[in-house]
Amino acid sequence: MLTGMHIAVIGGDARQLEIIRKLTELDAKLSLVGFEQLDHAFTGAVKEKIDEVDFSNMDAIILPVPGTNLDGQIDTIFSNERVFLLEEMLNKTPSHCTVYSGITNNYLNSITKKANRKLVQLFERDDVAIYNSIPTVEGTIMMAIQHTDFTIHGSKLVVLGLGRVGMSVARTFQSLGAKVKVGARKSEHIARITEMGLEPFHLTDLEQAVYDVDICINTIPHQIVNASVISKMPAHTLIIDLASKPGGTDFRYAEKRGIKALLAPGLPGIVAPKTAGQILANVLSQLLKDDFANRKGKAT
Ligand code: NAP
Repeated sequence: MLTGMHIAVIGGDARQLEIIRKLTELDAKLSLVGFEQLDHAFTGAVKEKIDEVDFSNMDAIILPVPGTNLDGQIDTIFSNERVFLLEEMLNKTPSHCTVYSGITNNYLNSITKKANRKLVQLFERDDVAIYNSIPTVEGTIMMAIQHTDFTIHGSKLVVLGLGRVGMSVARTFQSLGAKVKVGARKSEHIARITEMGLEPFHLTDLEQAVYDVDICINTIPHQIVNASVISKMPAHTLIIDLASKPGGTDFRYAEKRGIKALLAPGLPGIVAPKTAGQILANVLSQLLKDDFANRKGKAT
C-alpha cells in the first residue's frame, strides 16, 4: 500500500487515468493537475491548479509519457490550462522526491539535475519496453491491414532491428503467415533471428534484401531506410516506420518515388490506451512501493 504517500500527477492523456486509478486503489494521496475537464472523481485525489500544489510535501511527481517539452510545458488532454514544470517547483520538494516520466529531454534533465532530484525514465526500462511492444505490434498490424490490398499471410516482410519492438514485430507477423526477413548488425542478433526460424540478413546487405519486399517495418532510430534502399524496393512496398521521431526513413524520397511510407509514433497510446496505461501503472506502483518501503526502512 502507499498510505501516507503524497504524489502529484501532472498532465497526460487516457493512460494517466489508469495510473491514477491504481494509485488511489493503493491509498496514495494524489494531487491531480491538468484534469479539471475530467468528470470522474477519484477517492483520495484532489484536482488542483499547478500554482495551488504544495510541493513541499510531495514524495513523487508523475509526468505523462513525453515528460515536458523543451520549454517545460506538459501536455494536458483534460485541461485548457497551460501547465509548466519549473525548477523552482522541484526545489520546494523534499530531497527524496522522485520525478517519473516516460522519456526525457534536455529541459527535464537540466531542471532535475539542478534541483538534485532523481528522474526515472520508465521507457528506458526493459520491462516497460517489452510489455509496450505488445500494443505496438497490434497497432502495426492495424496499419498494415489499413494500407495494403493484400493479406499479411503470404506477404514478404522485412523487419529492421531485433530490439524489444523488432523481436515482437517479427515473431507476430511470422505467426500470421508472413515470410519474414530480419536485418540486424550484431552476430548474436543474426543467431537469434535464425533460432526463431526467420531469415536473417546483415544490415550491410539491406539494399539486396528489399528487392521483393511487400512491407518494410523499421524499428531502428537512425536513417537506415535511405534513398538508395528505397530505390531498390518494388513500387507497391509499404514502409511502416516505428522508430521514434523523426524515424529512420527518407520520407521525402519515398514520396518522390511514390512509395507509401508512414511514421507511426505512439501506437500503444492510440490503439490500446487502457492497456498502455496499465503497463505504466503496474511498473510505477511497484517502483513507488519499493521507494516508500526503502524510506520507511531507513527511518526505523
Ligand atoms: P531497442 O530495444 O533499443 O532496439 C533498437 C534496435 O535498433 C536494436 O536492434 C539496435 O541494434 C538497432 N539499432 C540502433 N541503432 C542502430 C544503428 N545505428 N544501426 C543499426 N541498428 C541500430 O529499442 P526498442 O524498444 O525496440 O524501440 C525501437 C524504436 O521504436 C525506438 O525508437 C522506440 O522509441 C520506438 N518505439 C515506437 C513505438 C511506436 O508506437 N511507434 C512503440 C515503442 C517503441 P543494436 O543492438 O545492434 O544496437
